[in-house]
Amino acid sequence: MTIASINPTTGKTLKTFDGLTAAQIEEKLQLAAETFRSYRHTPMAERAARMQHAAEILEADKQALGKMMTEEMGKPIKAAISEAEKCAWVCRYYAENTPHHLADQVVETNARKSYVHFQPLGPVLAVMPWNFPFWQVFRFAAPALMAGNVGLLKHASNVPQCALAIEDIFARAGFPKGAFQTLLIGSDAVEGILNDRRVVAATLTGSEPAGRSVASIAGKQIKKTVLELGGSDPFIVMPSANLDEAVMTGVKARTINNGQSCIAAKRFIVAAEIYDEFERRFVEKMRAMKIGDPLDESTDIGPLATPQIVNDLEEQVKRAVASGARVLTGGKKIDRPGNFYEPTVLVDLNVNEPVSCEEIFGPVATLFRVSNIDEAIRIANATQFGLGSSAWTNEAQEQAQFIEELEAGSVFINGMVASDPRLPFGGVKNSGYGRELAEFGIREFVNIKTVWIGGDKVNGDNTE
Ligand code: NAP
Repeated sequence: MTIASINPTTGKTLKTFDGLTAAQIEEKLQLAAETFRSYRHTPMAERAARMQHAAEILEADKQALGKMMTEEMGKPIKAAISEAEKCAWVCRYYAENTPHHLADQVVETNARKSYVHFQPLGPVLAVMPWNFPFWQVFRFAAPALMAGNVGLLKHASNVPQCALAIEDIFARAGFPKGAFQTLLIGSDAVEGILNDRRVVAATLTGSEPAGRSVASIAGKQIKKTVLELGGSDPFIVMPSANLDEAVMTGVKARTINNGQSCIAAKRFIVAAEIYDEFERRFVEKMRAMKIGDPLDESTDIGPLATPQIVNDLEEQVKRAVASGARVLTGGKKIDRPGNFYEPTVLVDLNVNEPVSCEEIFGPVATLFRVSNIDEAIRIANATQFGLGSSAWTNEAQEQAQFIEELEAGSVFINGMVASDPRLPFGGVKNSGYGRELAEFGIREFVNIKTVWIGGDKVNGDNTE
């Protein structure tokens, strides 16, 4: 099979690559298994030094890496460069914190000595999406490699250049050749790899159907999975909120990454007292967004990553309108080369229609008017997803109610949902399970081994 890198701004093919043959996949799996046998014993300080070096490479090369991301999947160049910087941050975070996260934990019991000891599992398969083509991979790879695992990356088929560049960064940082390998394969090759006994676990960031498929194959093999799937995040604005900030952040939260983020704010649920003013200002700002070449630093919104995403958006907007929604601005594909779609605001959605709570992966916001906090929470939770949530209020009691009652993996009060290496990231409901980042993330792919030692003090034991 051929894997193509196509510029979404122009529609032109940048490069093509041959997909791996069965024999090449076998070689890579063998190398992963062999590398793991020695890599697992490398001292933590050595892994940390290599991870720090990976951070230095990312920082030194951020302009070129950013350009590669922008040309391959269309995100605005400033955001692409920041993405490379954020990857350096997560490398440094795990280089510095893994010794503490994975240190033995002594537990007092009736044993002479008992403690929890963390060990790596082996080769882990990472199936990753194109929307944050570096960040999604590094937030898996940094903790996995620091824990002593080795990584196999099946990246999205539209970002092969990014996939190969990431493999190259880890090699240049000094990790052994089999510690992190990119597999240029289609999704049809994933099942065979997951069934291979040398692959011990998998993580998938992507859509719900892909998550179901990978989790069920891994489940049959009794292999651990982490799933980071879609979202339909609510953004709730109550009367006490700072309206200027809420509008400004809301537009940013909807249009970040050209609207293609799992934690983008997708449904805006606004108290009736301030609804009209919020709607007016929100629409004004969406209309003012500058659409264009993502390599131009002044561009707010670039193209969507593939023509299929534009088709999906068109279909969703048509479905919403057919069931009674009104388009306040936008609502159609832009007539120019590339995959451009207008920033769009939809109101009067029928809350019983699937389109009012499914994931809309592009710059299309849906607005809902509510009469009180209970109604806001009811609409916010009326989705199969539960990734992030953002609520804007300066009333302590309302803040507490949102924290307690929103069904999501995170609640941001008076702020935009964002990932941060120091905080766990993940979802509930159909947004997946397991966590990435922070101490919780690195614990996903380790054997949490209980050690219980009885008997008398033994010769050579200096630890007591
Ligand atoms: P996708 O179509 O599910 O693809 C994601 C990855 O899964 C790609 O590598 C894809 O390979 C692979 N894949 C697709 N179907 C598969 C299958 N049946 N078996 C095995 N692998 C399969 O998702 P996407 O369109 O690239 O990404 C957008 C989705 O990701 C959105 O739903 C978004 O919310 C979600 N996302 C979630 C998070 C999070 O942290 N929760 C973060 C970012 C994105 P091919 O490219 O070869 O098809």
